[in-house]
Parts: sequence; C-alpha cells; structure tokens
Amino acid sequence: MKNGENKISSWSYSLKESKKTKIIGYEKYENKLFPIIECSKREDIDFGLKFYCVFCKRYHLHGEGDGHRAAHCINDKSPFMEDGYVLKLNENNKK
Ligand SMILES: [Zn+2]
Repeated sequence: MKNGENKISSWSYSLKESKKTKIIGYEKYENKLFPIIECSKREDIDFGLKFYCVFCKRYHLHGEGDGHRAAHCINDKSPFMEDGYVLKLNENNKK
C-alpha cells in the first residue's frame, strides 16, 4: 500500500540533494500511493505546468490543470515511471 512512497524514499538522498523536485504529499487511489508534485507554470508559453524531475534531471512539461498524469520520465529507473504522479500548481511560485 505504501509502495509509491517506499520507492521514492529509496531515492531520498538525491531528492534532498536536488531540492528541485517538490513532493508535497501522497494521494491514494485504489491502494496505490501517488506522489503529489508541486509544479509551476510554464514560462515559454501561457499554458501548462512544469516541474523539475530529479530522476531525469530535466523539466517535465504537462498540460493545464492539477491531477494525475502518466510520468514523462525518460529514466526508466525513475520511481514515477510505473504509476505516474499527481500534479499540483503552486500559485505562489509561478516561475
Ligand atoms: Zn522524470
């Protein structure tokens, strides 16, 4: 039941190092835990969300709106790969 969290905490060292990927909590659907990732608005266009993925070492760009998404990870060892993640826009941090 806590698989998602365990998978990510096994990466906790690199998460702490980077501090760029902000996992602000976990949401449970059907006995799976999905990380909630704080996003900011894209700057290049006036649409969509982005967050820096510490596992892929690049930004992942997504469409508008909070909610669950399939992972855009290119690192197949990323703990996000299997179940995706939940995006949440931080309204106070639009950069
Ligand atoms: Zn990624």
